[in-house]
Amino acid sequence: MISIKSSSEIEAMRVAGHINALAHMAVRDAIRVGISTLELDAIAEKVIRENGAEPSFLGLYGFPNSACISVNDCLIHGIPDHYRLKEGDIVSIDLGSKYHGFHGDSARTWAVGEISEEAKKLIKVTRQSFFEGIKMARLGNRVGDISHAIGTYAKSFGYGVPLDYTGHGVGSALHEAPAVPNDGKAGTGVRLKAGMTLAVEPMINMGSARTYARADGWYVKTYDGKLCAHYENTFLITEDEPEIFTLLDDEK
Ligand code: MG
Ligand code: MG
Repeated sequence: MISIKSSSEIEAMRVAGHINALAHMAVRDAIRVGISTLELDAIAEKVIRENGAEPSFLGLYGFPNSACISVNDCLIHGIPDHYRLKEGDIVSIDLGSKYHGFHGDSARTWAVGEISEEAKKLIKVTRQSFFEGIKMARLGNRVGDISHAIGTYAKSFGYGVPLDYTGHGVGSALHEAPAVPNDGKAGTGVRLKAGMTLAVEPMINMGSARTYARADGWYVKTYDGKLCAHYENTFLITEDEPEIFTLLDDEK
């Protein structure tokens, strides 16, 4: 069952998305060599709460913190800890904010100090693969059109596209139907309707698409130990262009 949001629900999601974007910007501005991922988590949580929202991830499936923070070969679901960021690291931050019962969900990968050219390219392509996907987020298209656009773009750089983890519908639950894989067949899947809200989130590996997780399910990492990146926004399908809730004007 795919929910179509009412105008008041959409307004709550707009605010949730904006707060999530503010939290991302605060984390981005705090990233420096020597800061711990727990310190970044605290900054994100503070901004989310100060703006009247709650961290969506805290306690979800037993997750102990507000931000998923995944460094270098960790793709997603990293748990903040005492690790201190080093020059040349890349760090993926995934945040959720719940406002008046509705969620905003978005992720970014940032550089720590000076990073390699190949890492810069991975981050840039991962971000652009989201925008390639969202070009297809139009009335009458299908979920598979978004997936196909993301996967085709990312794979054209020789990158691996894991399929074990997907984008998703989002609303009063953080994870709703439909799943939005990061690769797939055009013309397949659910047809897009105005009022659907989706979180599309390319997770892209520099090497093989294969990943593994820690025994408890957290810390999803690349199997070959190569770098990976993550980029996500929550958006609304409209009669016209999709409306992105989690992207500030100065970040476009
Ligand atoms: Mg997310
Ligand atoms: Mg998500």
